[in-house]
This record gives sequence, structure tokens and C-alpha cells, in this order.
Amino acid sequence: MEIELDTRALDWQRKARGFADTELIPWEVRAELAGGVLPEDVRQRHRRLARELGFSAMDAPAAHGGLEARMVDQVAVWEQLGRVTNALCWCFSEAQRWMFDACSETQLKRYVLPLMEGSRIECYAITESSPGSAVDGIKATATRTHDHYRINGEKWYVTSANHADFFIFQARLAGGAHAGEHALFFIDKDTPGIEEVANPPFSHSFAAHHPTFRFVDVQVPAANLIGAEGAGMDYAHSWFRHERLMIAARCCGAAGRLIDEASAFAKERLVDGEPLAEKQLIQAMLADCVTELWAARLVTFETAQAHDRGLGPKALHARCSMAKLYASEMANRVADRALQIFGGRGYMRENPAERFYRELRVDRIWEGTSEIQRLIIARALLKRGLAEM
Ligand SMILES: Cc1cc2nc3c(=O)[nH]c(=O)nc-3n(C[C@H](O)[C@H](O)[C@H](O)COP(=O)(O)OP(=O)(O)OC[C@H]3O[C@@H](n4cnc5c(N)ncnc54)[C@H](O)[C@@H]3O)c2cc1C
Repeated sequence: MEIELDTRALDWQRKARGFADTELIPWEVRAELAGGVLPEDVRQRHRRLARELGFSAMDAPAAHGGLEARMVDQVAVWEQLGRVTNALCWCFSEAQRWMFDACSETQLKRYVLPLMEGSRIECYAITESSPGSAVDGIKATATRTHDHYRINGEKWYVTSANHADFFIFQARLAGGAHAGEHALFFIDKDTPGIEEVANPPFSHSFAAHHPTFRFVDVQVPAANLIGAEGAGMDYAHSWFRHERLMIAARCCGAAGRLIDEASAFAKERLVDGEPLAEKQLIQAMLADCVTELWAARLVTFETAQAHDRGLGPKALHARCSMAKLYASEMANRVADRALQIFGGRGYMRENPAERFYRELRVDRIWEGTSEIQRLIIARALLKRGLAEM
């Protein structure tokens, strides 16, 4: 069920598949049973290999030492990495294209290029205890004081904060010409006034945690403002598009792995003296999985190609939402059916269907819930019409 890709994209796909199959998948069960944590030498090996394969520089411009991979190449990579459970593929940080548009030379040197080189790790602090679906409603404030901003607020679900050494922090400006508008900041994690106030467990077993952080009168140099005052939401939107498309890609990869695993099991498992795969009710489940995966892959790869053809951000925004909405909902249905095909074995943590069943659930929540994606899509339709989507 291959989508026609050129040799460049196929090369990226092949590298990512090899890394997933030979380096990451063999460690899944060990990670699952150890709260997602792998031995330090293995973690370091994964980080080194991912960097050598170029994954951390895919989205970065050549002028800064990046590989300027097209969106279709990146989707081809993230689809393969999505085949792996326990977030073992999160073994590298990425310098993303929007950062090169937004950041000063000093910021690039201090924060962005080190992501690409593997010497620093970032985390995103946007969501608060108030509804994360209404990003506009965040309450964290940034108040300008001479050559600093004073930051106050509490951020929830800061993924990878236990590994990271700086935050990309979204706040509302208090006072000044852009009062009430949004701004993004780089904030070093060891800045005084930052406290981790909770680190709750979640459904999945990932080494990356999602703690809550409180920021009280944190003094951040004015030079750490990312882009202009008031431009915070523009940059947030461009990384939402990127992340939503890559979530769609990972969901396609997960569904592909689940279908491979469940159909292999159904061929071997004998029920009433014949392979489970001969049962038409099982065949119907597999057929629905494959059909929905095919549809999700077409939407995801075509959205990436539309990006590479230069489609404008408004139409792309709706398409990335459609890809994320459809692929994440699809992958959850596929995980449910795959687990059912495995029967009791599917409920065991050593089975990838059980792990994906828990892990894929959050893809319908983070980077905008399925309901929010539907609102984005409906608003685009009603504002601009079907022809402009
Ligand atoms: C594991 C995990 C990791 C995360 N990592 C990060 C991170 O690294 N950085 C970060 O900033 N955030 C992160 N998030 C936060 C995530 O983006 C939010 O949880 C998400 O945007 C939803 O916000 P909320 O949880 O406040 O739900 P709410 O906004 O309170 O929504 C609750 C429910 O109401 C629905 N709803 C809301 N508005 C509407 C509406 N208008 N119409 C219909 N239904 C609606 C939602 O779809 C949802 O079902 C993470 C979350 C999780 C669970």
C-alpha cells in the first residue's frame, strides 16, 4: 500500500524504518516495564544515532547547517518513527523552521542550534489549568521592566520538562503598546523563581514526564523575547501546523504496525481448527483498518506535498487539522480492533496493541483536541468556502 514517493523521500523513509526496527522496537517492552526509562548507555546511543541520521536537522535551513528536508520527507520519517511505542523515538530535539524566522542570531546560537547539535533540550510551556482549548485565554503574564521581562504564571503538562534545560514559554503582555497580546520567551530552567509543583502519572509509560511548573517573578532578559511583542500566536500557529501534521504521520505509522502485528497473529492463531484470519468478522475488522489507514495516509502525505508546493498558511492550517483529526481518530479505532483480534493477549502490557491503545489516546487531545480541530475546519469552510480549503 505504498504512496508514490520520489527517491529523496524514500531514502528518508528507509533510514527511519531501519532505526525504528533495529534500534528502538527491540527496547519497547523493557521501557514499558521500567516506566519508559532505558539504560543510560542505550538512551545515549539512540540520541547519537538519531542525530547522525539527520533527524534533528531535518527542518532547519541549509544556511544554518540544516538539511532543509521537505515536509513530505519529514512525514515519511515520522510515519516510520510512529511505529514505535513508549515514545522511544523522542530521542532527539529538532530545530524547527519557524525558529529561524523568529529568532535573533544570539538566540539561534544559544537555544536553537544546540537543539540540532543535541546539546540542549527544549520543552513547551503553553497550557495552563484553565481550558487549554482556548489558548487565547492564557493568564501567564510578562511585564517589561527595563532590560528584562517579569514572568508570572503556572503551566501544566510541560512535556519533557524533566529532560529539558529551557522552556519556550507563552505569556500575555502586561502593559506597553501590546498589552494583552501574546509573546513567546526562551526561559532557562535554572532561572530563579521557577518551581516544579506537580509531576502526575499519565496513562502511558514514557520517560518524558508532563509536570506542572509555577513561575513567580521570574526575571527573563528582554533579549529572550522570541520575535516581536504580540507575535506569539503567529509562531504558535506555525508550530501547531507542523506538529499536527507530524502527529498525523505518527498515527499512520502506529496503525500500520498494529495492522501488521494483528494480521500476522490472526494468520497463526488457530480457532476451531482454522486460522483466525479465515473468520469473516476478523477479516471485516482488518479490512476497515486497512481502508481507514489508506485514507489517512493519503490525507497526510497530500497535505505535506501541498505545503511543499507552497499552499498558503490559511488553507494549510485547515488541512493539517483534517490530517490530525482523521489520522488520530483512525489510529485509535485501529488500536481498539487490533487489541480485540489479539484477545486476552492484547490486554497484556508486553503486547504492542495494549501499549498503543493507551498511548494513542492522547493524540486526540494534545496539540488541539479533536473537537478543536473540527472547529478549525468548520470555521475555514464557513469563512472561505470548500474551494479555498
Ligand atoms: C500527555 C499530555 C502532554 C501535553 N503536553 C503539552 C506540552 O508539552 N505543552 C503544552 O503547553 N501543553 C501540553 N498539553 C496540553 C494539551 O495541549 C491540552 O490538554 C489540550 O489542548 C486540551 O486542553 P485541556 O486539557 O485544558 O482541555 P479543555 O480545553 O478544558 O477541554 C475539555 C474538553 O472540552 C472540549 N472543548 C473545549 N472547547 C470546546 C468547544 N468550543 N466546543 C466543544 N468542545 C470543546 C475539549 O475538546 C475537551 O474534550 C499536554 C496534554 C497532555 C494530556
